[in-house]
Amino acid sequence: MERRHIALKDSIRSIPDYPKPGIVFRDITTLLSDPRAFRRAVDALVHPYAGGRIDQVAGIEARGFILGGAVAHQLSAGFVPVRKKGKLPHKTVSIAYTLEYGTDELEIHVDAIKPGDRVLLVDDLIATGGTATAAVNLLRQIGAEVVAACFVIDLPEIGGAQKLRDLDVPVRTLMEFE
Ligand code: AMP
Repeated sequence: MERRHIALKDSIRSIPDYPKPGIVFRDITTLLSDPRAFRRAVDALVHPYAGGRIDQVAGIEARGFILGGAVAHQLSAGFVPVRKKGKLPHKTVSIAYTLEYGTDELEIHVDAIKPGDRVLLVDDLIATGGTATAAVNLLRQIGAEVVAACFVIDLPEIGGAQKLRDLDVPVRTLMEFE
């Protein structure tokens, strides 16, 4: 029998041993290219905040730009890119964060947010929470009130979502993988 509604989770492609052995890469490009799955994911991300006040959606490079742009449009909010070091043209604030091996740096324009702006953080996936925690710290540094963080995918065994909740950031995710 034809299934009229595939589960959103079935639209994610899992690629073993990418980008290195032992990692299962959860690829959202297959969700994005499926018109119904893309709409359902964005609607589900937006739903809790519709009718509330979100001034800016902050998206984390790069997949958070795609989802965050659509979410911002639906919420009639602005969009603010949180980028890897060296990509933003104007004056920035930056923060280093720890990766499994080594460190990386995220940046945001210093004037991207008006003090007190209510900001929703968006990315495709939360694993260790290192990236999202760095983004929250940057946003708070420039005066944002981080209302919540939302992700399509949670890897709960790694514990990143809990780390964000410990920072008093409510977290919403649409699905979990081991
Ligand atoms: P983390 O800082 O450990 O929470 O990692 C989150 C960031 O890395 C997100 O921007 C994800 O896009 C990416 N990421 C980490 N692990 C995976 C994975 N297994 N599959 C796809 N993307 C991942």
